[in-house]
Amino acid sequence: MVALQTRVAVAPGDGIGPEIMDATLRVLEAAGAQLDLKEIELGQAVYQRGETSGVAPETWETIAGYPVILKGPLTTPQGGSFKSVNVTLRKSLGLYANVRPCKAYSPYVRTQHPDQDLVIIRENEEDLYAGIEHRQTDEVVQCLKLITRPGCERIVRYAFDFARIHGRRRVTCMTKDNIMKQTDGLFHQVFREIAAEYPDIETDHMIIDIGAARMAVHPSQFDVIVTLNLYGDILSDIAAELTGSVGMAGSANIGLHGAMFEAIHGSAPDLAGKNLANPSGLLNAAVMMLAHLGQADTANRIANAWLSTLEQGIHTQDIFQRGTSFRKVGTREFGDEVIARLGEQPRVFQPASYTARPMQLDLGSAPQRRAARKELVGADVFLHEAHLSPEALGERLESLAPAHLRLKMITNRGVKVYPGGVPGTFLTDHWRCRFVSTEADISDPRNPRYRPVSYDDVLALLGRLHARGLDIIKTEHLYLFDGERGFSLGQGE
Ligand code: NAD
Repeated sequence: MVALQTRVAVAPGDGIGPEIMDATLRVLEAAGAQLDLKEIELGQAVYQRGETSGVAPETWETIAGYPVILKGPLTTPQGGSFKSVNVTLRKSLGLYANVRPCKAYSPYVRTQHPDQDLVIIRENEEDLYAGIEHRQTDEVVQCLKLITRPGCERIVRYAFDFARIHGRRRVTCMTKDNIMKQTDGLFHQVFREIAAEYPDIETDHMIIDIGAARMAVHPSQFDVIVTLNLYGDILSDIAAELTGSVGMAGSANIGLHGAMFEAIHGSAPDLAGKNLANPSGLLNAAVMMLAHLGQADTANRIANAWLSTLEQGIHTQDIFQRGTSFRKVGTREFGDEVIARLGEQPRVFQPASYTARPMQLDLGSAPQRRAARKELVGADVFLHEAHLSPEALGERLESLAPAHLRLKMITNRGVKVYPGGVPGTFLTDHWRCRFVSTEADISDPRNPRYRPVSYDDVLALLGRLHARGLDIIKTEHLYLFDGERGFSLGQGE
């Protein structure tokens, strides 16, 4: 049966992008992929025309009619005026799941981990990639890490459903919740809750630092890894590189309504225009795209030709090894060699077995949650003050607290410096001053019992600090949610 032509927007990208895209599209065409392709321009050329987002308004209109994008890597210019197009696309199109399979092709592609076959499922929209950054004082800048419960639920459920559908036995969650108890703690908590619904899948949790170290040394012990955005980005480059080259792995960005397929690597400016880049990452992404679009026969035809090419030692320079490889080829020639093998089956590798299946998963509707009982119990007021000792600032603030609030502590870079700081703590011009209700019982620091205050109390506090010339840079309210503390303690509090 001939599949209907499916609309795909194609962005060749920057650096090596046009070369690997050309090789990939020639393979797709030769294999008979039924695609209605429309080229779009993203990235450097658009930035250079003054569009700081890297996406022109007319491109957004095209993308609206093309729910699937095949994208080459894009260069993000350095400097504060430009936002990453990759991040803009993932967030604007709601592509919340980034699926990154990283598999070894030993013995034809040399690797120390011949049994590696893992999939990283990376949350794709939240975390530090919210890109909310501020300079607050002469010395301090801030990046907000935003983690949402619905965001955690979607990605964790996606990982479990993915594992179940693809016959994978274990899902490992990686976070840093020993330090970030609220943000990474929520991700881990949601993982625990959802894991209970999948008793057929083994689960475990690792702190990201030891998890990454283990993955780098024993990648074959991992199956599916689900993690937050930044950790997933770093882990997947490591995992791809372990297979022999970062140029090998493709990736799928999946949303509720759209999808974008790309290589996991970047635009490799060092190789651009030299016909040296390995097009396999983008080709593997295109193969996933074909299966997603219902063209599994074509996906398997291409994947088998690609496996045969690898087996026969036709390698780009990044995976070329004397003794294992037979011939070193350029980007274009590698594409030609894959085309020449269309219809072949690999002799040693297992033939590809893609099935026609959308990568969008029906996760059902998010559970309706009762809003928690939220009580304001204090405020962290952040001040920009140079040339002040913690004691001098503390005494000044004690005297300025209004009727219902009292100063509980001051931290500098998160470390408690008042009352009772440690001499030698490095100090900057950025102070977090925690005020809590005067009626709070804080005699037991491990179990403080807070009492509600009103918003007017916080305004009165801010008014008094401002009137005495203190430089307030921001305020964070301290809330209890159903009686549970919704803020972290200061280091040493
Ligand atoms: P990179 O992935 O482009 O390159 C890292 C190293 O891997 C380089 O030595 C490069 O030569 C090699 N490499 C990458 N792809 C290869 C391939 N197909 N074949 C052979 N070798 C390959 O990372 P970078 O240098 O840190 O980033 C360059 C630019 O790419 C930056 O502007 C970055 O923002 C951007 N980037 C884009 C994406 C994306 O579009 N999704 C992802 C990562 C980085």
